[in-house]
Amino acid sequence: MVAEILSFLKSEAKPGVTTLRLDELAESEALRRGAKPAFKGYSGFKHAICASVNREVIHGIPGKRALVDGDILSIDFGILYDGFYGDAAVTIPIGKVSSAAERLLTVTNESLQVAIQFARPGNRLSDISHAVQQYVEARGYSVVREFVGHGIGRNLHENPQIPNYGPPGKGVRLKPGMVLAIEPMINEKGAAVYTMEDGWTTVTSDGGLSAHFEHTVAVTGDGPDILSKL
Ligand code: MG
Repeated sequence: MVAEILSFLKSEAKPGVTTLRLDELAESEALRRGAKPAFKGYSGFKHAICASVNREVIHGIPGKRALVDGDILSIDFGILYDGFYGDAAVTIPIGKVSSAAERLLTVTNESLQVAIQFARPGNRLSDISHAVQQYVEARGYSVVREFVGHGIGRNLHENPQIPNYGPPGKGVRLKPGMVLAIEPMINEKGAAVYTMEDGWTTVTSDGGLSAHFEHTVAVTGDGPDILSKL
């Protein structure tokens, strides 16, 4: 359901559309399926999606801002259904974006795909973290340190935390049945970020672009199973 709804939002995210409209669509699509938007009411957050544009890294608040050609929009979305949570994020090019923006999106998404391949029994948690950092830094980008991936299941955020940086071979050993939300947040320029006065919206300190891709992934005996993929 998370994948279906994110895919729908992707098709609706165009120049002229407000992030609040996308939020309303996300909520109605969740409710129509008998699911509850996971973020609404979480720590006082009032919306179904986080909508983060350009230099905004995560936790952007949907509003009356209309998207314009050349923006990049990160949508983070989760639901609760039948006692379990799903969580995923995607950064979407709006209209025609710069080649620099396009490359940031491609590399961030690729870093997620590469990292997911380490979500296998016998590996350690930080093998995932290390994979993201290696991949993006080799291509000139920076890893956000202040926010991390997480376990997920009967709660939206469960242990362990999953940083997108660090040495390999540390942390818990992965076992079949573990479910992880892996979510690289990658900056075009420096890694530094800060949270604005609204208490939510986190932006890059140097104004550079930021991208965010996330999947909910089950560790299985047959390898990683991407649960939030269509
Ligand atoms: Mg998450």
